[in-house]
Amino acid sequence: MPPVSAARTILRRLHDVMAAKTAAQAKLNQIVRIVAAELGSEVASIYLLRDGVLELFATQGLAQSAVHVTRLSMGQGLVGNIAARREPLSLAEAKAHPDFAYRPETGEDDFHSFCGVPIVRRESAIGVLAVQHRDPRDYAEVEIEALQTVAMVLSELIHGAGLVDDAQAARLRAANSGPMRMNGLKLVDGLARGTAVFHQPRVVVEHTVADDVDAERTRLVEAFRRMRAQIDAMMGQAEFVAGTDHHEILETYKMFAYDEGWARRINEAIETGLTAEAAVERVQSRNRLRMRSIDDPYLKERLTDLDDLANRLLRILSGQLGTAAQLGLSGDAILIARNLGPAELLEYDKRHLKGVVLEEGSLTAHVIIVARAMGVPVLGRVDQLFAQVNEGDELIVDAGNNALLVRPTAATIKSYQAMRALKARQAEQWAKVRDLPAISKDGRQIALYMNAGLVDDAQAIALSGADGIGLFRTEFQFLVSATLPRRERQQSLYRGVLEAAGDKPVVFRTVDIGGDKAVPYLDHDEEDENPAMGWRALRLALGRTGLMKVQARALLEAAAGRTLNVMFPMVSEPWEFAEARALMEEQRERLASLGRPVPAEICYGAMIEVPALIEQLDVLLPMTDFVSIGTNDLTQFLFAADRANPRLADRYDWLSPAILRVIRRVVCAAAEHDVPVTVCGEMGGRPLEALALIALGVERLSITPAGIGPIKAMIRSATLEPLADAMLDWLKTPGVNVREQLSSAAKRQGLLL
Ligand code: PEP
Ligand code: MG
Repeated sequence: MPPVSAARTILRRLHDVMAAKTAAQAKLNQIVRIVAAELGSEVASIYLLRDGVLELFATQGLAQSAVHVTRLSMGQGLVGNIAARREPLSLAEAKAHPDFAYRPETGEDDFHSFCGVPIVRRESAIGVLAVQHRDPRDYAEVEIEALQTVAMVLSELIHGAGLVDDAQAARLRAANSGPMRMNGLKLVDGLARGTAVFHQPRVVVEHTVADDVDAERTRLVEAFRRMRAQIDAMMGQAEFVAGTDHHEILETYKMFAYDEGWARRINEAIETGLTAEAAVERVQSRNRLRMRSIDDPYLKERLTDLDDLANRLLRILSGQLGTAAQLGLSGDAILIARNLGPAELLEYDKRHLKGVVLEEGSLTAHVIIVARAMGVPVLGRVDQLFAQVNEGDELIVDAGNNALLVRPTAATIKSYQAMRALKARQAEQWAKVRDLPAISKDGRQIALYMNAGLVDDAQAIALSGADGIGLFRTEFQFLVSATLPRRERQQSLYRGVLEAAGDKPVVFRTVDIGGDKAVPYLDHDEEDENPAMGWRALRLALGRTGLMKVQARALLEAAAGRTLNVMFPMVSEPWEFAEARALMEEQRERLASLGRPVPAEICYGAMIEVPALIEQLDVLLPMTDFVSIGTNDLTQFLFAADRANPRLADRYDWLSPAILRVIRRVVCAAAEHDVPVTVCGEMGGRPLEALALIALGVERLSITPAGIGPIKAMIRSATLEPLADAMLDWLKTPGVNVREQLSSAAKRQGLLL
């Protein structure tokens, strides 16, 4: 039998069946007749999922009395096996297969060979199409493919006629796929449960049989053209610079997008009479099947790229171009993506978005900073994410334990609920101390500020009980904008934050962009191989004074009549601070000379993030009104350890004497000059680390809002004096493990850690 023509004649005949106004059952009866005739088989049968069981719905060649009588559970018999595994099965001798289940009522004794394929919709098996031959024979790949093509058409027919319940099929698939634990990397801590939603939803092909093959061919050519243009455009974007992971992925995309073999196979499927969408899907399901049997992780990864690209092609063809955010979320959703941009994340409805799982992602990626600000847990670096998780699967994101629980069992859900309950009880404890000051048992008061960056964050001041905002990362607005935010927009953000903060202080940090926080609308140095140490933050701002002046005016005008606290990131030399301060002062004088209102007072601060600056504190401190230690950057520079590199994430301890001694030096020097010191890096948000900082003499912490409750509870349960004395001793004694010493001392005090 010439293979392509078999599929083609079947499809041509199916076209007429599908177009006819007959009942669904009559159509199924006709289809089995056509399949048997075209494949020369004695038997052709359709089993459909009804009430969770596969029921014989139509047959040519088996006893008609078995129709709607013969039923097999998922996984039972050959048919159940095909549906459960969602894979074709062909056997020269069916009875020899261990799963063969004899059904006397069908009268199938005479048949030896068997070939069946799943009927799939939305990645769930909703039925099985099978043929049987009297003679023992092997089935050629093209015959199996012809059956798979028919199965696609059947899926459309079955769905259109409402013969099976999709949601039930999805539940069954989930039950059959089984639970699984996948490892990842905690990017934003938290625990969440919800249904998997793909950021780029998979397109469901609704129309499979072509009316006009030529027209489908033309549509495919046009879709390929558009897809290639999109990939080329992406490759030209700044964030996909050569040498990055993104770029490597795009290179693979490009290779597939221009692969003539792929386009040819899709065209061949169109030749058989499929629509362009159905042809893409047909070729892709063959690829997916191959993917399952491949062990090589690199190849698997590349095939996932192809899957992604096929979905892009489908989205172009079907016109379903929106992301899940644009289509709208409902219920509790866990967003699944290869990677995301900060603006894309911000498009999601926070009421429904419970968690994010990424195949890529790194700690300092912009999207992670934004997710942390949104309070959404994020798990990154989950290998094989798209191969294992289906849309609609139930998921538990346990970022704290670096785990994703896919299709959890009842027992897992129970332990998740217990963990939630524990967290809720803890939150109640923290809520009780929300309006109380962070005073230790021996009367030392610590100011707890929060870090923020989005306008909504300001609301968290009241909820968290923070004493103010100790670090407002103004670059968030720049990161989520497609163009440079204009002065009016900057000003309205700053004013909104000040208003929400009421009489509590807000410290604005001028933009820390450039380097890895690059924005596409500002040209940056493409040759910056070491972005964290590159043309970023204050270096960029002092180099592009136009940008800095605009921000200065926005800040000055927003804080008119009140105190403006402003600090500069990545100061490396005192003169940089002096220059930035002079620039702000210049703008203030300018505004004043124009008769515009200006702040009643301006307090200038420097971020201490670069070790070199610590050697010049005697020069810097007399110029500043306050300083803030950015431990994220300070530790990466002190240890020469990239803060975004997961392999180094656990290598150096925040409680290492190197860090603690440096911080102590800053605290002592600042005390001498009577300059207040805050610590605003992530370190201060962890109870034991915060305790160490306080023991070193730090009296102000600026941390993530979620950290305020636990840190306050810890402080209120502590007697600090003896810990501060002990800390000084530990730092003087070589070889002491401060983490161990401090945590046992804390335990002895019965501290709430
Ligand atoms: C830091 O470096 O510690 C800091 C607070 O700034 P960012 O994390 O924004 O670089
Ligand atoms: Mg920093």
